[in-house]
Amino acid sequence: MESQQSHNQLNVIFVPYPSPGHMIPMIDTARLFAKHGVSVIIITTHANVSSFQKTIDTDFSLGYPIKTHLIQFPSAQVGLPDGVENLKDGTSNEILDKITRGIRMLQDPIEVLFQEFQPDCIVTDMMYPWTVEAAAKLGIPRIHFYSSSYFSNCAFHFIMKYRPHDGLVSDTQKFTIPGLPHTIEMTPLQIPDWLREKNPATAYFEPIYKSGEKSYGTLYNSFHDLESDYEKLSKTTMGIKSWSVGPVSAWANKDDQKKGNKDHLEELGEEAELLNWLKSKENESVLYVSFGSLTRLSHTQLVEIAHGLENSGHNFIWVVRKNDRDEGENRFLQDFEQRMKESKMGYIIWNWAPQLLILDHPSTGGIVTHCGWNSILESLNAGLPMIAWPMFAEQFFNEKLLVDVLKIGVPVGAKENKSWNSICVEAMVRREEIAKAVEILMGSGQESKEMRMRAKKFGDAAKRTIEEGGHSYKNLIQLVDELKSLKKSKAFIDKT
Ligand code: UDP
Repeated sequence: MESQQSHNQLNVIFVPYPSPGHMIPMIDTARLFAKHGVSVIIITTHANVSSFQKTIDTDFSLGYPIKTHLIQFPSAQVGLPDGVENLKDGTSNEILDKITRGIRMLQDPIEVLFQEFQPDCIVTDMMYPWTVEAAAKLGIPRIHFYSSSYFSNCAFHFIMKYRPHDGLVSDTQKFTIPGLPHTIEMTPLQIPDWLREKNPATAYFEPIYKSGEKSYGTLYNSFHDLESDYEKLSKTTMGIKSWSVGPVSAWANKDDQKKGNKDHLEELGEEAELLNWLKSKENESVLYVSFGSLTRLSHTQLVEIAHGLENSGHNFIWVVRKNDRDEGENRFLQDFEQRMKESKMGYIIWNWAPQLLILDHPSTGGIVTHCGWNSILESLNAGLPMIAWPMFAEQFFNEKLLVDVLKIGVPVGAKENKSWNSICVEAMVRREEIAKAVEILMGSGQESKEMRMRAKKFGDAAKRTIEEGGHSYKNLIQLVDELKSLKKSKAFIDKT
């Protein structure tokens, strides 16, 4: 990898969106740019930087040209206590709404910084469509950072274009997504509400999904062998320039993982107990259950999950968010945790799990996922098949990719995409359905064996693609070279 200060250095500003599923992959991508000689500035807020400043400082001390620049989150203006600046802090819909308003108010200070720093290019999250105009004003390319699959972006594109669900007699009637190389059937209830029919959120989300087409190109945290049909579709029929450079988390942390082969449990503090528990289990016998950073589940649904997992008879690790509203009701979970501790069958993690550590452990054999794209990629990288339990946003599209296209997922049977601003999921999946899906994935049946084999192949491909000469590796180099030659020739043409 190139180190600092090469001739004709390219200066790129990254602007992540303050939600773990968007921020984590963008920080990893920014680090990869810096490791390939690009001078990088990440613009973020005080509370958000705390999760990655140490990593950036380490990279900087190793000679990579990367730094952060902090702006003030407008906490007082939106009525939030200090430090609540990330969507994962949205314990209620009201707080979530305030955080979202605060994020929108960051537009002006960020634009001022673009003017001040005069970068050669900006890489901004999909949630900031206004940066298309901001880049045009500076006469520089804007790269659209799409934080999910090619597949989901293609599905959005063709559903927005042809509206195949209009005119169906009910919300549960199936329709086929037009334009895709596979026959993918969904119901209107499974697509986001703003896409199902026009509502106040439509005016917010449509520009977000259309801003990719107005940008210089789109960066995907995906890899060629995983979604080649959809990568091609996006480039040809949809005409969008793009680069798949994932899995960025495995790539950016490659050297760290080699160093810390986690045998020294005493150095790992809290994680030691978890690792000891994992170590006591047979290979591939543990199911990891996580619904990402944003999903909140109702108490009734938590009870069903607890019984479903217990009835399945398989070992599990389950990440449960501490939900302030349900403090009283959490007694059930505390008793459940105690029972699972005694039987050694289950391990509850409150709030936040070291997900990569768990997925990469040999005792882990599968995951129940809400189909957040990062969790999917991280599981694939570990070669693990999945139980697909989508909740909201594009997650139902990702479920279709896992189940119908890649054939490495068991659907739990989720039926309804929850509203964008109502992340407390009340919808029910019953304990019997949960236990059944767990048995299919973790049992010794043929279906499980085949899915496991396919998932391992994707895991191998994920490792190859980030090595020198692999697709993702070459795509990143190609993008950096292209941006350098644009800078040199000043050839950028405004597309707005
Ligand atoms: N994550 C984690 N521990 C947790 C929950 C989430 O480390 O307890 C990480 C996970 O590894 C992933 C990200 O947070 O990188 C969640 O992104 P994803 O796209 O899966 O879901 P989202 O949170 O955006 O719904």
